[in-house]
Amino acid sequence: MASSFFSLGPVTKESELASLHLRRDASMPVILSTKAEGAEHEGYAEGVVTNTRFGSFPHSTIIGVPWGSQIRASKVDTGSRGRRDRGNAKKRKADVLDDKATNDDSALANTKDAVVASTGFVHVLPPTPETWTTSLPHRTQVVYTPDYSYILHRIRARPGTRLIEAGSGSGSFTHAAARAVFNGYPPSQDIENQTNPAENPEARGKVFSFEFHEERHKKVQEEMLQHGLDGIVRASHRDVYRDGFLLHNDESDVKIKTSPRANAIFLDLPAPWEALPHLTRQAQDGTPSALDESSPVYICTFNPCIEQVQRTITALRKFDWLEIETVEVQHKRIDIRRGYTSLQYEGLRGVNGLATDVDEALARLRKVEEKAKNFNRSKSGQGRVADTPVVKNQSQNLQQQTLPFDGGKLVHRTQADLKTHTSYLVFAVLPRSWSEDDEIAAQAKWSKHV
Ligand code: SAM
Repeated sequence: MASSFFSLGPVTKESELASLHLRRDASMPVILSTKAEGAEHEGYAEGVVTNTRFGSFPHSTIIGVPWGSQIRASKVDTGSRGRRDRGNAKKRKADVLDDKATNDDSALANTKDAVVASTGFVHVLPPTPETWTTSLPHRTQVVYTPDYSYILHRIRARPGTRLIEAGSGSGSFTHAAARAVFNGYPPSQDIENQTNPAENPEARGKVFSFEFHEERHKKVQEEMLQHGLDGIVRASHRDVYRDGFLLHNDESDVKIKTSPRANAIFLDLPAPWEALPHLTRQAQDGTPSALDESSPVYICTFNPCIEQVQRTITALRKFDWLEIETVEVQHKRIDIRRGYTSLQYEGLRGVNGLATDVDEALARLRKVEEKAKNFNRSKSGQGRVADTPVVKNQSQNLQQQTLPFDGGKLVHRTQADLKTHTSYLVFAVLPRSWSEDDEIAAQAKWSKHV
């Protein structure tokens, strides 16, 4: 199957994975299909219908439209289910129309279970790791986009990288890693059994994802297949603390092991230090190393608490990792809006720093508040940042200062924290192994050029 993540045409098609974008930070993954199957869709004459807070969307209205299109909610003929729900639906429909459902929170409450609604809308977007992360079924804590973007950058994940991930969890990081390492080959081909000599399997990117929880492993494997990523991601059911990262080509004979030849590693495990003995240059018990001999290897471990960081670093040192660094990524969303600051309140005082008249001060205060309110109402808080005056010192008489706009200065407030699984990220690098033979070969190569 072609990957929904990499090989989409200009319009949506039957059987493709799509992301229904409901509003900022809320989207819903759906496999587009007009063939209604299963109890979930029972009673809909239109075939498969996705019900959202903003109304009902028969897939027949979503298929065959350009990606990015806005889809209006439809009135849905619900058959027997409709008859059951009709009494309540009538009232809900009235609520929805009253509210002119415009995808805001007040409309949400009324449309929550609505079977009939025709005023809401969604946008149909191509799936990306980012939309998948915000909408995936959570089976564990997941790594969110701000973290995995930074991690993938620091561990040098790029087309052709061979990346080990443990554990797979809910597959959030797995999707982003698959995109980072993918280098354009037909993604559903089994690269390990590649026979075409024109292809170079050595140069292909691959994610080796390990998970010891059987259900989670099966689910990730299933998702990779559904999303057409099974040629890029190889999911293994494994306790990596005990059994390490070598690949069993035949799971029934675990003695036959091959190396993933990884050059990037991401460990999101409760005890990463227990996995590190399996990530060394020296082979264990005569088995090959799981690492790529011909390149440096970059690692990141995800550690929720500082005690885990300490134990991880001790183990990294023991196993020769260098350039060890701990980073905490703090995500904040800054809300810029028009308002007044405490300095502007200062400006309401008289020239001597004292209010000359209480009534006069209050009247000025109300005027400033009213202007700020009006500005926010009319401009939704957006304005020309460049015009904001710089306040040099507190004693400056702000009454004399020209305000940039009617309604006060631009101020910023930090919104509630972004949804992330906050953690400490420990990074390190294991240099490539360098033998005497490598040195002789390098010198011989160099001497040809001088
Ligand atoms: N990074 C994942 C994501 O973005 O969706 C979330 C990983 S979750 C926090 C940690 C996972 O590690 C769990 O699913 C757990 O079952 C798995 N795990 C814990 N110990 C393990 C082990 N020894 N071997 C393999 N997987 C393990």
